[in-house]
Amino acid sequence: MEPEIHPIQSDRLLRVVANCLGSLIESGEFLEKITHVLGHLGSAVNVDRVYLFENHLERGKVYCSQRAEWAREGVAQQLQNSDLQNLPFEENFPDMFAVVSKGKPFTAFVASLESPLREFLLAQDIMSIAMVPFFCHGSFGGFIGFDDCKTERIWDEVEMDSLRALAAGIGSACLRERTERSIQARADELARSRRVALSLIEDSQNALQAAEEANRAKSSFLAMMSHEIRTPLNGVIGFTEILLHEKLSPPQIEMLETIRNCGDSLLNLISDILDLSKVESGKIDLDVGSCSLRECVREVIQSFGAVIQGKNVGLEWEVAPSVPETVFVDGKRLRQILVNLVGNAIKFTDQGLVSVRLDANRDSSGELILTGTVTDTGIGMSAEELGVIFEAFRQAHSSIHRQFGGSGLGLAICRRFVEAMGGKISAQSEPGKGTTLTFGVPVRVADSVEDTLAPSEPVAPPPNLRILVVDDIPTNVKLTVSILRRLGYSAETASDGNEAVALVEREEFDLIFMDILMPQCDGIEATKRIRAFEQANPSRPAVKIIALTADAFPENKSLCLEAGMNHFLTKPVRRNALYAALSIGPQSSLP
Ligand code: ADP
Repeated sequence: MEPEIHPIQSDRLLRVVANCLGSLIESGEFLEKITHVLGHLGSAVNVDRVYLFENHLERGKVYCSQRAEWAREGVAQQLQNSDLQNLPFEENFPDMFAVVSKGKPFTAFVASLESPLREFLLAQDIMSIAMVPFFCHGSFGGFIGFDDCKTERIWDEVEMDSLRALAAGIGSACLRERTERSIQARADELARSRRVALSLIEDSQNALQAAEEANRAKSSFLAMMSHEIRTPLNGVIGFTEILLHEKLSPPQIEMLETIRNCGDSLLNLISDILDLSKVESGKIDLDVGSCSLRECVREVIQSFGAVIQGKNVGLEWEVAPSVPETVFVDGKRLRQILVNLVGNAIKFTDQGLVSVRLDANRDSSGELILTGTVTDTGIGMSAEELGVIFEAFRQAHSSIHRQFGGSGLGLAICRRFVEAMGGKISAQSEPGKGTTLTFGVPVRVADSVEDTLAPSEPVAPPPNLRILVVDDIPTNVKLTVSILRRLGYSAETASDGNEAVALVEREEFDLIFMDILMPQCDGIEATKRIRAFEQANPSRPAVKIIALTADAFPENKSLCLEAGMNHFLTKPVRRNALYAALSIGPQSSLP
């Protein structure tokens, strides 16, 4: 067959190319624009198919894939042809590649081509082909192809020049699209990273929430357990104390004292665990008030009088003249720290001396630092042992700790208390030579008269007090009543808040010992109702209400006082505490 020439007026083709280039720079979806341009071009130059192939590099080799196509009606589309995707162009068709990769158009009658290109093109029903390459950033980026399926076509130079101009435009459009695609990919990647970060934040927030919930659950479990353990302990310690006031033989007294000491140790352990859980959950509320430091140390030393007896250990104390009489500090915690340190010093010293010293100095910022030092001449510790003693449940002398007892909580609690006060605690020791524990906490001098409360003289309780004991646990009622009886007082009893309120409405009482946790109507509710009743009946003098509870959490105390109670005692109830409570006026304070 004779080759066919399709003359197309050069100015018409130029107009088409100009239009096509115009549409390429308009906004819109890239493939849609390209397909439209190819169609426009295909009709103008009267071919059967026009298409766009784009190159990509893989391990240094050029591959190309068909991306867009226009085909005349009745001509088979090739866009879905998988042979035209990721085509190893350079490798499979090196001759053709050599031409187009240099920027020259490639035109051919398929019949005259060599294998395997010929078969490859014939499989697509192509009789003659023209490929016009384009370049992106100076390298071969792809081509537009023109197929004639029924004729062998010859392209003239003018046509080719116009098509090359168009191919260059398409190359720029491809480059722009590629850049946009990579920007979009980066934006998608960023959005994905942001989503991941957000979900990580959400996860960590959930984890934090779960941890907080677990902590709350732990605190309420501890509060409940502490309450449950304190309740029977109340009976054990209380009745032991009562029995100790009976006429007993020395061995009986010794046995009862052992029972009381065991009860006390158990109670200390519960208080320690409670303290630790409070500080660990960050809930330590310092109760800062004026505190007489000399008084505090003297009391601590006195409390070890019995322990030191029978030991070949001296116990001395000194408060430096620089230490103010009274400072603002959490006195209860300070006392607890001293008790722990002195207790340990005595426990781990067989002979020699335990000495306690308080100093006060201003630091570089002018803050007054109260320094407490407890030194002993006991068994001491190695450097390794020193490293663990401030951790909870760790004991330096674990191999021999049975001999000394203890839970390994004391110093962990001391450290947390000291840190909560804004101070530091440290230890120095040498095996066999003794130990020195030092803590420093910032304090404020309580210098005005109103800052300090004059210690009140103990007053003997008035006789014939009308007393009501409210508790739902019969053992507790029996114990409190027994102690009161031995102190010379009788008492009425009620087994819950409702009963107590009803009794108060009927009779006048001077004093109520009120349990808090009770079924139906608890102690808080009962107190509120009693106070409301008194307001409605002004002729009734206000009864003194003293909480007597196994719930030792400090916030419980505030709840009680807010509800209208006058004082707060924790179980196990002690004879002396009860006695002191009988004599209090509404403004005085209980230890
Ligand atoms: P524990 O209830 O065991 O006394 P602590 O937390 O108070 O718990 O002390 C932790 C450990 O530190 C003790 O078991 C002991 O091994 C060591 N330790 C504390 N104070 C002294 C001291 N003054 N001398 C020797 N060892 C001490």
